[in-house]
Amino acid sequence: MARERVIREPKAIPAVLDPAEGTKKASAAKPARLPVTEGVDSVLVRPPLREDDDSVIKDLRPKRFAEYIGQSTVVDPLGIAVRAAKKRGEPLDHVLFHGPPGLGKTTLAHIIAREMEAHVTHTSGPALERPADVVGLLSNLKKGDVLFIDEIHRLSHAVEEYLYSAMEDFRVDFMTGSGAFAKTISLPLEKFTLVGSTTRAGMLTAPLRERFGLTYHLEFYTDDELTLVVKRSAGILGVKVEAEAAAEIARRSRGTPRIANRLLRRVRDYAEVGGDASGIGIEPDAAVNKDMAAEALRLEGVDELGLDRLDRTYLQTLAVNYQGGPAGVEALAASLNEEQQTLVDVVEPFLLKIGFIVRTPAGRRCTPPGMQHAGEVTHGKSAKGTQQARLV
Ligand code: ADP
Repeated sequence: MARERVIREPKAIPAVLDPAEGTKKASAAKPARLPVTEGVDSVLVRPPLREDDDSVIKDLRPKRFAEYIGQSTVVDPLGIAVRAAKKRGEPLDHVLFHGPPGLGKTTLAHIIAREMEAHVTHTSGPALERPADVVGLLSNLKKGDVLFIDEIHRLSHAVEEYLYSAMEDFRVDFMTGSGAFAKTISLPLEKFTLVGSTTRAGMLTAPLRERFGLTYHLEFYTDDELTLVVKRSAGILGVKVEAEAAAEIARRSRGTPRIANRLLRRVRDYAEVGGDASGIGIEPDAAVNKDMAAEALRLEGVDELGLDRLDRTYLQTLAVNYQGGPAGVEALAASLNEEQQTLVDVVEPFLLKIGFIVRTPAGRRCTPPGMQHAGEVTHGKSAKGTQQARLV
């Protein structure tokens, strides 16, 4: 009996950003130019949409360097490199951004493409499973195109090896056939710019890291910078916020624009319906004031330091269950029933920044201000007393 032939669906539909139009175009999955093996899937992938994905609601992403708030130690040198490359008519050197999530790495990748008047192809490390995936992707790039790989530390070793020659010599070598019919084909590529983004620079292999000509670390934003982010986003969303309310949202945003935008949306919801079942919100022309913002954020479980429920549970677990530590992140993840990656990428960076925890060779430890805050949380007190602990 003839066996049914299973035809695999392409894994995802490529999305290409056209800088001229600023719109994401879902183009039909182009087959890889290479006949590498039968059944090669096209690879381009957009990461899953997040709640605050700008394409779903309103586009809050800055489009140009001039709109991008803060990070001057990144934007200033990067702007020079972009202008110089453009003047020479050459593609920009490969760029690596690292830092905690939500600080604007993806935004910068898209700004680079726009400023270079180039197309950007957006994919992520885990989406590029096999060498054929990356070869197909690279062979479709045109001169000057930007290939953005999010979570680049999660590339498989085999895929990463293809990137070495692609980044350095703009070619890929791959094998076709097998046994006596095996032969190596060297495929020349157009000169492109790889922009990599990672929350874990330490997990990148040295050969990959060294192939980036421009490497930047993104820092948490100051409260003043985040206040500007909130005001800008409020303007785009058409929400009126008093200066003090914008500052209040900024102060509780853990130094992160993505959180600032999310909290602004929650404050807007609260203001629109008056925060209760009556559904009577503020007057259409009225501005959100500080008290309203504070109450909306309290309902969201965000405390005065900007810590949310998971941050507080982490701190309490370390302070109480592990008597302040040291505790390994695996043990903490198990106790909290959370992914280790979430703790390392999302929870710990800000707690480290405000000096509530430290990382030691033996594990995580709670500092005295961290212990104090955990105690106040446990006893239901306000976090006011620990305000000085901010920005240690
Ligand atoms: P990352 O890639 O580092 O996780 P994103 O680039 O996706 O972060 O940024 C998250 C959101 O924060 C974006 O949608 C954007 O609206 C906002 N944002 C990031 N950086 C800035 C900035 N410098 N100025 C204004 N908004 C920003």
